[in-house]
Amino acid sequence: MVIIQSLNKGAEIKVGNSDVFLLFSALQGLFGVPELSCPEGFQEAQDKALQDSEQLVQKACSTPPGPETVKIFDQLSDSLCRVADLADFVKVAHPDFAFREAAEEACRNIGTVVEKLNTDVELCQSLRRLLGDETVMSSLDPETRRVAELFMFDFEISGIHLDEEKRKKAVDLNVRILDLCNEFLIGTHIPNKIDKHVLPEHIRYNFTAEGNYLQVAGLHADCPDDLVREAAYKIFLHSNSQQLARLEELLASRNSLAQLVGYDTFAHRALQGTMAKTPGMRHVWKDMLRNQMSGILFQMLMPWDHPYYSGVLRAERYNIDPGLYCPFFSLGACMEGLNSLFSQLLGISLYAEQTKRGEIWSEDVRKLAVVHETEGLLGYIYCDFFQRPDKPHQDCHFTVRGGRLKENGEYQLPVVVLMLSLPNSARGAPTLLSPGMMENLFHEMGHAMHSMLGRTRYQHVTGTRCATDFAEVPSILMEYFANDYRVVNQFARHYKTGQPLPKNMVSRLCESKKVCAAADMQLQVFYAVLDQIYHGKHPLKKSTTEILKETQEKVYGLPYVHNTAWQLRFSHLVGYGAKYYSYLMSRAVASMVWKQCFAQNPFDRAMGERYRREMLAHGGAKEPMLMVQGMLQKSPSVEDFVDALVSDLDHDFETFIMDS
Ligand SMILES: [Zn+2]
Repeated sequence: MVIIQSLNKGAEIKVGNSDVFLLFSALQGLFGVPELSCPEGFQEAQDKALQDSEQLVQKACSTPPGPETVKIFDQLSDSLCRVADLADFVKVAHPDFAFREAAEEACRNIGTVVEKLNTDVELCQSLRRLLGDETVMSSLDPETRRVAELFMFDFEISGIHLDEEKRKKAVDLNVRILDLCNEFLIGTHIPNKIDKHVLPEHIRYNFTAEGNYLQVAGLHADCPDDLVREAAYKIFLHSNSQQLARLEELLASRNSLAQLVGYDTFAHRALQGTMAKTPGMRHVWKDMLRNQMSGILFQMLMPWDHPYYSGVLRAERYNIDPGLYCPFFSLGACMEGLNSLFSQLLGISLYAEQTKRGEIWSEDVRKLAVVHETEGLLGYIYCDFFQRPDKPHQDCHFTVRGGRLKENGEYQLPVVVLMLSLPNSARGAPTLLSPGMMENLFHEMGHAMHSMLGRTRYQHVTGTRCATDFAEVPSILMEYFANDYRVVNQFARHYKTGQPLPKNMVSRLCESKKVCAAADMQLQVFYAVLDQIYHGKHPLKKSTTEILKETQEKVYGLPYVHNTAWQLRFSHLVGYGAKYYSYLMSRAVASMVWKQCFAQNPFDRAMGERYRREMLAHGGAKEPMLMVQGMLQKSPSVEDFVDALVSDLDHDFETFIMDS
């Protein structure tokens, strides 16, 4: 436990004699995978995975229908995922270009094989024989049955049940959609150019000059000058016919594909297996619109004002300068805080583990062993926390290896990476986190715990491989812990004086988060509704811009600005297609769980155990709504979901803004 302090970059790490040992030990591969000691190893690992998969396909096709069928499918998926998932991480985060390139290549090759397998008729037949055999199916346990159905779902969305001609059409559509997604994504980031003379001279310096043009690459939402924000909004969001055509073709193609494989709309296809498709939940969004969130705030603002003013108000009303908080949140203290919380709630401790030579990709990466007090080692978390050149600036959880019950009865331990971009501290000084970074660390650790505690028999549904609208529940729940004084008080100590963080500073921080929270949520609801309409019934009744205008005015309240097309910058339409609502849905569940189970006592071990048993343990192996029911010991109604979101908002806020 004490060793966790060594996570503080710059703090001295004692290695002692093992240094000598390390010099003479053989070079290990990344994550301890022997082949991956050099970039060329990816080819070797990939070839091995493909060889294994060929054998497993033959085995699946020749095995009579039974639980064994599901096991073989999961082994097949594991052999490919083990390389693909690892490569997925390496291709974005390895400091060495050669490694990134080799990983990218492996991802592509395995992706092609997976696509081929998903349209392999013979392989699908073997699963269909199982699903069609009622006697065998009814003898299977619910987890095995669900995993069999999930594998079938993968075949079906690839159009396997179609005749030759339609299947070819499905493949073509898939390829086209992939291209459109990439083109659209690139388009969402491209700056817009404008003749510099159009803008008043005194604001031009805010934008990058290029000859007679100015480049507007974003919304400049934090700029105190109203005119700059207005100009940036109108120029950056200016409609672009090429990007518009891409989006409209993408939405239409997704719709065609969904209908080709048997769904009414793309949204119907995307919501398969989620909480949202549960009867009743479909109406959540309608209800959200009818909720009590007041629109008073909006009468005085324009769309480019909202983020700026919420920031100003937050800072003015509450003195929450990060500089005041940082000294209390050294990384070591925060990790000790997490360790102490997990040990009280779940009986789990985090231990820093010595890594072997070649196992990690950057010397500041730390490996944590997650150990349960009676069950022993549960899995490993690699903490890649610090900024470095070429590392993406995003907080992220990667599954590197899924947990599963192996053929020999042992459990394959899950391995994940948590990636943050913390600033590098001066040598000898600890790394200090702002309150936002601390909350993000808790959030990502919530994902990691989902991975570590998911004890699924199959890796296809390991930890975070669950319904999209459930996936953020464990991480958002951790944000509630990170904002509770009783929890923060356990670890937040001034790194120099050891003094605890004063209670009023914690409450100021929590109160400040409620500023404009209603408006922020209304914005999220607007995005979610827009995403649903775009992926709903086609052909769309109007252009995507007209739909945006109509929905914005109805749901968000702020006026639409002529000639803008914000949807062309909405990159989440690609990755979340028809599931953008997931974040709000997860937040609602986390809020209910927090209030009902942990708000009274955030260290309640009995509740921690229930949380593990009813939610975390199942990964994606159980219907998400059943997990929620198990945890809350009741079936939440649509009103409960809406209330959970609304009750976190500060209702006095509108009065405050009117007065100020
Ligand atoms: Zn998350």
